[in-house]
Amino acid sequence: LHIEASVAGGEQENEACAVLVFHDITELRRLEKIRKDFVANVSHELRTPLTSIKGYVEALLDGGKDDPDTSAKFLDIILKQSDRLNLILEDLLQLSKIESGQVLLRREPLQIEMIVERTMAMMRPLAGKKGHRLVENIPSGLPLVNGDEERLGQVLSNLLDNAIKYTPEGGSITVAARHVAPGGSPAGGKSESLEISVADTGIGIPESDRPRVFERFYRVDKARSREMGGTGLGLAIVRHIVEGHGGQVWVEGNRPCGSRFVVRLPVQPSDQAAGHPSLVPT
Ligand code: ADP
Repeated sequence: LHIEASVAGGEQENEACAVLVFHDITELRRLEKIRKDFVANVSHELRTPLTSIKGYVEALLDGGKDDPDTSAKFLDIILKQSDRLNLILEDLLQLSKIESGQVLLRREPLQIEMIVERTMAMMRPLAGKKGHRLVENIPSGLPLVNGDEERLGQVLSNLLDNAIKYTPEGGSITVAARHVAPGGSPAGGKSESLEISVADTGIGIPESDRPRVFERFYRVDKARSREMGGTGLGLAIVRHIVEGHGGQVWVEGNRPCGSRFVVRLPVQPSDQAAGHPSLVPT
């Protein structure tokens, strides 16, 4: 631990005062390292598709354009890589807005069941393409959650998108929810909460990587993530939205295989069930 201290003194009539200012240099260095790593990661992520675009444009100029089949193939790759660049930039922009508190979370009483149903309907075609079975296991009469409908929908769609991506064809994906009494969750907690989980029968995540997958650009298998069209930012966005709601998110192993992501949200106190919507910064 490195500590820097400076002393500021002053005298006011009979009163003398001194202020000691401590700066924890270790923390400053850690933050600076995070910032540098982030810039390096962003540059790397953007460079990969750009290098590919440049390479194929050069190949076209080198004579590839004279052959219609080659042109069509190369132009298709260029289009896909440009889409990828766009996706990375969109995710980055969104993450930076959320992190800097520019995204205001709506706070209104929500039925989680409705959000789950709508998101599952949206993801069904994608799951169908890989022959996955999408199962919903939501009991009726769950308490309301005080939150932002659109953002919580995004949390679910990011988790479902990953479950679909990281599960080989013909898998099974289950979205479940349960009411947790105070102190009744493995994550502890003294207040009442709601747990929503997305479980898949996919490739799973090694235990040592589990806490880290919520970091920006952290991937268990970089090549596989890129091949699947991932930006490495989906779970970082999920974590920010969930924590902005005063909740927690974590991942466990699913039995017999795959992963189970759990989102735990505080429930709407029953005496405020008819409260008015409000906006709070993330
Ligand atoms: P990506 O765009 O790479 O999918 P995410 O932030 O959404 O980025 O996820 C980070 C990493 O966590 C992924 O690259 C993958 O290694 C792992 N991961 C996320 N969801 C799952 C899942 N359902 N099954 C297995 N691995 C997963």
